[in-house]
Amino acid sequence: MRPNKSVIVCGGGVVGLSCAYYLSREGYRVTVIERHAEGADSCAQGSAGYISPSHVIPLSAPGMIVQGLKWMMNSRSPFYVKPRLDGDLMRWGWLFARACTKDHTRRAAPVLRDLCLGGRKLFLELAEVTGDAFELKKEGLLNLCKTPAALDHYAHGLAALANEVGVEARVLDAQQTAALEPGVRMDVAGSVYFPIDAHITPRKFMPALTNLLKEMGVTFKWNTSVYGWQSGGGRVTAVATTAGEISADEFVLAGGSWSPAMVAGLDLRLPMQPGKGYSLTIEQPRFKLEKSVIFAERRVAVTPMGAQLRFGGTMELSGHSENVRPERIEQIIDSARFYFPDFTPQDFAGIKPWFGYRPVSPDGLPYIGRFGRHANLTAACGHAMLGLTMAPITGLLVAEILTGRKPSVDLSMLRPDRYA
Ligand SMILES: Cc1cc2nc3c(=O)[nH]c(=O)nc-3n(C[C@H](O)[C@H](O)[C@H](O)COP(=O)(O)OP(=O)(O)OC[C@H]3O[C@@H](n4cnc5c(N)ncnc54)[C@H](O)[C@@H]3O)c2cc1C
Repeated sequence: MRPNKSVIVCGGGVVGLSCAYYLSREGYRVTVIERHAEGADSCAQGSAGYISPSHVIPLSAPGMIVQGLKWMMNSRSPFYVKPRLDGDLMRWGWLFARACTKDHTRRAAPVLRDLCLGGRKLFLELAEVTGDAFELKKEGLLNLCKTPAALDHYAHGLAALANEVGVEARVLDAQQTAALEPGVRMDVAGSVYFPIDAHITPRKFMPALTNLLKEMGVTFKWNTSVYGWQSGGGRVTAVATTAGEISADEFVLAGGSWSPAMVAGLDLRLPMQPGKGYSLTIEQPRFKLEKSVIFAERRVAVTPMGAQLRFGGTMELSGHSENVRPERIEQIIDSARFYFPDFTPQDFAGIKPWFGYRPVSPDGLPYIGRFGRHANLTAACGHAMLGLTMAPITGLLVAEILTGRKPSVDLSMLRPDRYA
C-alpha cells in the first residue's frame, strides 16, 4: 500500500535529491528544502565523479595518524589541518584517532563495499531512467603508484582487502598499466586496477535528477534555509525555515557538512568536520584518458568527463572557510607532472579552482538511520569522500527505513546515535 504521508528532506545536495527520488517512488509526498537557488553549486558538482566500490578502506585507517602528522609538516601534502582551538575539531580528532584501528577497518570494509556496490547498481538504473543523461562510464579505476614501495604497499593493503571482501583488484606492472591507458604517457611503477569502478559527469547528474524529481511531483523550496525545529513527545513536528514553519510526518537530515548546524537545537550529537577539497577542470586537455585514475602517493583523483579532464584532491580541515590556499592547488598541479610527465603547469593556466566541503564523520562511515530522540527524524549525511557513490543507496535505505522494510545494507555501524 502507498503511504499517504509527507516527508521533508532538508538539503538539496546529491544525497538529499537521492532521498527525495526513492521516497517519491514509494508514494511519499516529498518536499526538498534547499537554501540555495536551483542549479547552484554543491559538493557533488565539482567532485571527481567516481562511482567507486574500490574504496573499501575508511578514511580512519591504521597508520593515518602518523601519516597525517607527516603530511601536516609539508604544506604541499594532500592533508592540512588549520591549527585552532576548536572543541568540536578536537573531539572529532580524538574520535578519528580511536577509529584508526585494524579492527575498525575490517568491520567497515564489508559495509563500505555494500554501500558502494549498491550505489553503483542504482546508478546503472538511473542511467537507464534518464537516457544516460550523466555520461556513466564503466571503465574501471587505476590506482597509479609512482614507486615500487607504494605499489607493494597498495598490493598488500588495499588490493588484498578489496579481493578479500569480493571487490576485484588486479596488481599491474608499468607496462600492463600503460596498455590500459594508451592516451597518456605515465611515469609509474605500476597500479592497482579495479575493473568494477565507474565514473559520471556530476554537473550533468544533478540537473538530470532534479528534472526527474520535478516530473515525479516532488516540491522544491529553493532559496529557503532551515534554522530551527518544533518537537515534542519524541517527535519532530515542524521545521522552521526562512519561508515559515513547515510540518510533515517525516523529516530527513541531508545537509551534508552543515548537518550538525542544521540540528543544533535538537540536542543531538553528530560529530562531523567539513573536509575541504579542490578540483581543477581542463576544458580541452591535450591527452585523453578513458578510466578514472588516482595518483596513489599524492591522493589526487583524475577523471575524464566528456571532453573535459578533472583533477581533484586534498583534504583540508579548516572549517567552512572560503579561503583558497594556493599551495593546495599547486600540489594538485605538481602531481599531474609527477605521474604524467607530458603535462605542464600551462595545461592548468587560467583555470579557476573549485572547492567543496565533504561531510566527514570521524570513523569514515556515513550516518544513516533514525535518531533515538526523535522517532521521525532520519539521518542521511556524513558520506565524506564517497557521497556521490553512496547517494542513491542512501536514498533507497532511507525509503526502506521509512516504509519499515528490511534495509538492503546492514545499518548497525551507521547509526546516527553512535556517538551520543
Ligand atoms: C574534491 C572532491 C572530490 C570528490 N570526489 C568524489 C567522488 O569522486 N566520488 C564520490 O562518491 N564522492 C566524492 N566527493 C564527496 C562527495 O562530493 C560528497 O560526499 C557529497 O557531495 C556530499 O553530498 P551531500 O548531499 O551530503 O552534501 P552537500 O552537497 O554539501 O549538500 C548539502 C546541501 O544542504 C544545503 N544546506 C545546508 N544548510 C542548509 C540549511 N540550513 N537550510 C537549507 N539547506 C541547507 C546546502 O546548501 C547543500 O546544497 C568529493 C568531494 C570533493 C570535495
